[in-house]
Amino acid sequence: MHARYARIAEARQREIKVRVGFAVFIACTVWALAPSKWPAIWLALVFAGQSADWIVFGAIRRLGGGTPSRGLRIAACISLFVNSVFYSAIAAYLWADGGGSQMVFGSILIAGALLHVTIHLYHEREILISAATPPVVYFLALPVIHGYVLGQPTDLLVAVGCVLYMTHLLVAVRQSSQTNRAIQIANDRAQEERRRAEVASAAKSDFLAVVSHEIRTPMNAVVTSANLLERSQLDPAQKEHVVMLKDASEVLIGLLNDVLDFSKIEAGKMELEEAPVDLVDKLKALERMWAPKAQAAGVAFEVSLPDDLPRHVRTDPLRLQQILFNLVSNAVKFTATGRIEVRARWNAALGRLTVAVTDTGCGIPDDRLPYVFDVFEQVDAGVTRRHGGSGLGLAITCKLAQLMGGSVSVESRLGEGSIFTVDLPMGIAAAPSATLAVSAPSTFAHGLDILAVDDHPVNRRIVALLLEPMGCVLTFAENGQEAVEAAALRRFDAILMDMQMPVMDGLTATRAIRSDGPNAGTPVIALTANALETHRAAWATVGVDDFVTKPIDPARLASALEAAVRGEAALAATA
Ligand code: ADP
Repeated sequence: MHARYARIAEARQREIKVRVGFAVFIACTVWALAPSKWPAIWLALVFAGQSADWIVFGAIRRLGGGTPSRGLRIAACISLFVNSVFYSAIAAYLWADGGGSQMVFGSILIAGALLHVTIHLYHEREILISAATPPVVYFLALPVIHGYVLGQPTDLLVAVGCVLYMTHLLVAVRQSSQTNRAIQIANDRAQEERRRAEVASAAKSDFLAVVSHEIRTPMNAVVTSANLLERSQLDPAQKEHVVMLKDASEVLIGLLNDVLDFSKIEAGKMELEEAPVDLVDKLKALERMWAPKAQAAGVAFEVSLPDDLPRHVRTDPLRLQQILFNLVSNAVKFTATGRIEVRARWNAALGRLTVAVTDTGCGIPDDRLPYVFDVFEQVDAGVTRRHGGSGLGLAITCKLAQLMGGSVSVESRLGEGSIFTVDLPMGIAAAPSATLAVSAPSTFAHGLDILAVDDHPVNRRIVALLLEPMGCVLTFAENGQEAVEAAALRRFDAILMDMQMPVMDGLTATRAIRSDGPNAGTPVIALTANALETHRAAWATVGVDDFVTKPIDPARLASALEAAVRGEAALAATA
């Protein structure tokens, strides 16, 4: 109801110029038809009425949709009633003055006034009744009184015409209000559906985040166990089994990361970072990583870089790598013979890097080409089944490139090969003055007293498997609360802290340990399955020394630990 009052007040104020303009025009016309002082008096009354209207509806409008008081609502009704009485009074003057054309003009004026108030004020019954009663009374009474006084029964015909007009008006307004109501209901329903879809989408994202966390933990165990197994004495058949185990884990982790990335992009939660990147090294790394695999399948692999390519640029290192990795891995996957070329170009004027990945592989049929960047699009299910893949890689690549302000395009000919080209804007960065050298794991860890905090027994076992052989002495805590209690008793050389734990999470525990006690200055390394930038930022605020993402890379953990205890750790150097 109050929103309706606000809407009426809005229309009242918006239309005031039209009403006043009409009044001036009517007064002039009537004065020309029947000159006297009455049109001027009428105009003065209309001005006074409209001023009161402006004040009353201005007050309602200033409430901004808030509840108008009962007094204000009554004032609004009185103002509308009085204004209607004044406005249509000119018709009474015209009818009294006599003359066929004056009477017709007067009737049309009342009909217009009735139309005006009905269209603008039908939302609220009390308002409509206040504003419409005077013109209705004038409309019916004038012909009746005129006919009675002058003894002209034919005037009653005008009254009948008025009744018919009002009936049509009523039907039209009812129709229009029904239509408006139907539109309003449809809008409300659409909004409700959108809200529900948003809730469902958020629930889906949360579900994915939880499931991925739950899958990462056992995957962490699988990968770490496979790594440890690989280093033990194995016969050839066992070695092969371990390789299969590692390959399968990699596929699963890749799939998991793809699903997570895609849901993050879909939810608009993908955050990009900007850091200096050694572009030459990033592109050459593609050769180091993929040439052996391609060459093993009899496919030549070449990376060519132009002389003017800047060595250091500013971009998102992880996402650039992901884009290049996706395009090159597809080229390797879908090329059985011939060659794969990765060609970079630098547009210095625009500050844009273009990388074209050309292959002589199976190519993509013309009718599938427009859809290759769609989710779950796989051109040939047979080939995909042979090589694996989720159909998410190119969709993620395309969205990431767009998020970074660039684009990806494809040209392909069935049976001849494909060219995928990515174009990304990036600024040139100064060469870093000195890079942090993280020394290889050595005997530094021997005798280190470490507090390891993780709620999951498998993760605690992994940490033990990794660190005990290095000579570390481990104390375990199963949640943040236990960690805070353990940290209050004696000083540790380093603390490994998980993020999500029951009772007290890692962030709160780190903050508590850092605030006071023997471990206020002890290096803390966050062990987290969540490598999201927001989580990194959260950890950075509590002052952790480093991050190690799960599944834990043993060398990475050792180097992070060494750097931390030597006071050399730098968050920027994390993987
Ligand atoms: P997938 O994980 O299945 O490879 P992508 O999104 O990376 O998913 O690729 C989608 C589909 O596009 C692939 O299944 C394949 O049919 C086609 N495709 C991508 N890259 C190439 C390429 N270099 N040559 C031929 N077909 C390709």
